[in-house]
Amino acid sequence: LRHLARKLRASGPVTVAEYMREALTNPGQGYYTRRGGVGESGDFITSPEISQVFGELIGIWYISEWMAMGKPNTFQLVELGPGRGTLTEDILRVFKQLTSVLSKCDVSVHLVEVSPKLSEIQAVMLTGGKVQPNPEDESAYMKGISKTGIPIFWYRDIQDVPPGYSFYLAHEFFDALPIHKFQRTEKGWREVLVDIDPEVPDQLRFVLSPSRTPATQNFIQPEETRDHVEVCPEAGVIVQRLASRIEKDGGAALVADYGHDGTKTDTFRGFRNHKLHDVLSAPGTADLTADVDFSYLRKMAQGKTATLGPIKQREFLKNMGIDLRLQVLLQNSGDAATREQLLHSYDMLMNPEKMGDCFNFFALLPHHRLVHPDKKDKPESKSPLPPVAGFNELLLK
Ligand code: SAH
Repeated sequence: LRHLARKLRASGPVTVAEYMREALTNPGQGYYTRRGGVGESGDFITSPEISQVFGELIGIWYISEWMAMGKPNTFQLVELGPGRGTLTEDILRVFKQLTSVLSKCDVSVHLVEVSPKLSEIQAVMLTGGKVQPNPEDESAYMKGISKTGIPIFWYRDIQDVPPGYSFYLAHEFFDALPIHKFQRTEKGWREVLVDIDPEVPDQLRFVLSPSRTPATQNFIQPEETRDHVEVCPEAGVIVQRLASRIEKDGGAALVADYGHDGTKTDTFRGFRNHKLHDVLSAPGTADLTADVDFSYLRKMAQGKTATLGPIKQREFLKNMGIDLRLQVLLQNSGDAATREQLLHSYDMLMNPEKMGDCFNFFALLPHHRLVHPDKKDKPESKSPLPPVAGFNELLLK
């Protein structure tokens, strides 16, 4: 707060995006830089932290796509914002169990993480802490070997990840990126800004820009019908990069987050100790987040890839076979407490009132994954392409 107040006094109000960036990822005082409280003992809980089944089914999704795309002999698994590393850990366990299927494939893991604190936690979780910082021969800032023998690299930016056939994963990543907020007024669109409150010392408040800002000119569509709009240009840039990389080198991206399809208005909120927290109070001590606008992500793929979804988490997981997996785990668990825990976590992930409806899955896939390139000329000449799991029922041959 002191850092921000000094800045606001010196140079006037800042955009919500700048405020959010400072509060979350300021190199000294940002929430993710210092705390990054994912998990039960932190500020917010995510699906991979609730149940191992979540990551296992996502691992199966990648294997299923890898098979559908003709089993290329190498792929990179690239995760954006891996949190505590739990999701990657669960995926790598599936890869290990399916060694016989993946045996001839050269797999590596690439984690994009800005938080030094969280990358340390990930390193312990995935490698037992045996990592090499600043390897000279790589664009990564850290590297190590997973407990299952797979090389893992860490980067601050997706642009540092080497090109190549890649499966991307972004779970609760896009919602942490800075958003701009806009309000329709009688005088036209105005941007919401963060300023210091002149009446109360060291308190922040929202104000409206007196005139249009560069962001109002660039990010509001002429056909917009809502009165309040949030736009996350950083998410747009990252999706453009993912789409270009998939178009050029092949692979797929799976994005899972809470969000909407271009319909919601004011979704900016904070979490601290699993409770809603005023976004403007004590910046740097709470998670700040906004719903992901999937219609914007689809637009930013710019037709370079096909897109699927958003589809609700409970439908995606059901298609991936969560019910069967639950039955197997229930049968294999000896004690009542474990069975209780399994049922409870299933309910958290699937119940429409909990995470089942508000979380969505969205994918970027090469066009040829959904339509044969020569389909137009010879429609009957090819066998049908396998359906994409999760968005359809999983069929593993
Ligand atoms: N995927 C995890 C964690 C979600 S929290 C889970 O579902 O449990 C958001 C994650 O994104 C954290 O790891 C945070 O440090 C990281 N992050 C936030 N902003 C980032 C940015 N600009 N670049 C890279 N990582 C970022």
